[in-house]
Amino acid sequence: MKGNNDGKTQIIKTMSRHHAGFSKKLGQNFLADQGVIQEIGEGACLTEKDHVVEIGPGIGVLTCELARRAGYVTAVEIDGSLIPMLKKAVEGFDNVRILHQDILKTQIDQLHSLLLETHPQLENLKIVGNLPYYITTPIIMKLLEEGVRAKSITVMMQREVAQRLMAAPGSRTFGAISVAVQYYCQVREILQVSREAFVPVPKVDSTVLRLDIREEKPVSLTDEAMFFKVVRAGFSQRRKTLLNALSGLEQLGKEEMREFLLSKDIDPGRRAETLSLEEFARIANGLSLR
Ligand code: SAM
Repeated sequence: MKGNNDGKTQIIKTMSRHHAGFSKKLGQNFLADQGVIQEIGEGACLTEKDHVVEIGPGIGVLTCELARRAGYVTAVEIDGSLIPMLKKAVEGFDNVRILHQDILKTQIDQLHSLLLETHPQLENLKIVGNLPYYITTPIIMKLLEEGVRAKSITVMMQREVAQRLMAAPGSRTFGAISVAVQYYCQVREILQVSREAFVPVPKVDSTVLRLDIREEKPVSLTDEAMFFKVVRAGFSQRRKTLLNALSGLEQLGKEEMREFLLSKDIDPGRRAETLSLEEFARIANGLSLR
């Protein structure tokens, strides 16, 4: 196992040999700690039957670990200047392909279906990545809202974002993104990672989460869009009471909303961050039946 400093030196050498710089704009902080890389591979629970789509492989440190554990890896990288280094890093593997494109414009389900035509043994799609910080939330929400047919999404992100995704109702960090992610997934913390594990060293520490996509949702909804409308409105101004935040929804004035919330056994003076998913669902289902 290589030490963290050896890993850093090697990454810096590789980048300078290719006259490449670390792009801050693209969130390029590369993992230099072999122990962390192995733990991510382990935490993603991969087998030969898995097709992994890796988001942002960079120069391939994690890609090689994934290729050793999974049946096949599709690595999607936006930065063309990294592709030659990435190709070199994975040249010993015959189960890796590199796609030079933007993950936000990638149809992951389609990639998987096409691959199945030639690799029918790949039963599961799993998504893994050390995410660029600047688009962590958009990437996760795109995958979940599109209903990607993956079993799990194992991703490294800024620790504060991970705390929001894991937060329970009543905690200060519980927000619309916590509700959304917990509606679609069971969230597990895999590993906390110090900023010192990266080169260049970022300003924040990180956490790796595995989001296991639920086969069955935790609450039953009459209308999913209404649920998210209520959640967004509830958290739109965190200091507002539920009554003030939700008044106006579905043309309900303040008095009507108060009566409606009371009829659903919900105190109108509460704030959105105290509500459970079940309570949000009760409000949304009530509103969509009106
Ligand atoms: N996986 C590598 C590692 O762990 O060392 C690199 C991780 S680095 C935090 C994020 C990577 O995502 C960079 O290589 C960056 O170029 C790439 N990236 C940024 N935006 C992207 C996008 N929209 N689509 C695909 N890759 C992107």
